[in-house]
Amino acid sequence: MDISRLSEDAKRRKADWVKYLRTHKKQVEKMDLTIHALHEKYSAQIDCLSCGNCCRTLGPRITDKDVERMAKALRMKQVDLIAQYLRIDEDGDIVFKTMPCPFLGTDNYCAIYESRPKACREYPHTDRKKFYQIYMLSVENASTCPIVYEVMEGIVKSE
Ligand code: SF4
Ligand code: SF4
Repeated sequence: MDISRLSEDAKRRKADWVKYLRTHKKQVEKMDLTIHALHEKYSAQIDCLSCGNCCRTLGPRITDKDVERMAKALRMKQVDLIAQYLRIDEDGDIVFKTMPCPFLGTDNYCAIYESRPKACREYPHTDRKKFYQIYMLSVENASTCPIVYEVMEGIVKSE
């Protein structure tokens, strides 16, 4: 897959993915096993270190626990970590002050990988239960994440 064309390709495919949910709502609600198998397949094929799009463009929502863990890993006081790296966004969520993420290296490695926020661990969410609840979010995420793009394509071609 050509990641540089991902956004364009996802835009072109979006209407079909949305239509599929509209016409196959009941099936999608029972498709977790199929979707998780697609997630496993494409997570194994696509190398996040050649991508890094989520760390460059989508800021994770950060919890108090994340702050605690990150501060420990960086040997910083929580108050200093917050002052240096974090801000409250317009929805009241704690997020990184700047994107790309300050912990993303030029080689796409995460400098705090073992202690990264929970939202980073869970992205791109294509292995979560009740995937239908984030189907529309995934339609959007497909324009930045090649794993999500392939999973969406797999879903609509699953019959
Ligand atoms: S903390 Fe690590 S995994 Fe999370 S966005 Fe930053 S670089 Fe990516
Ligand atoms: S956008 Fe998707 S493929 Fe790219 S680094 Fe993030 S999870 Fe991996």
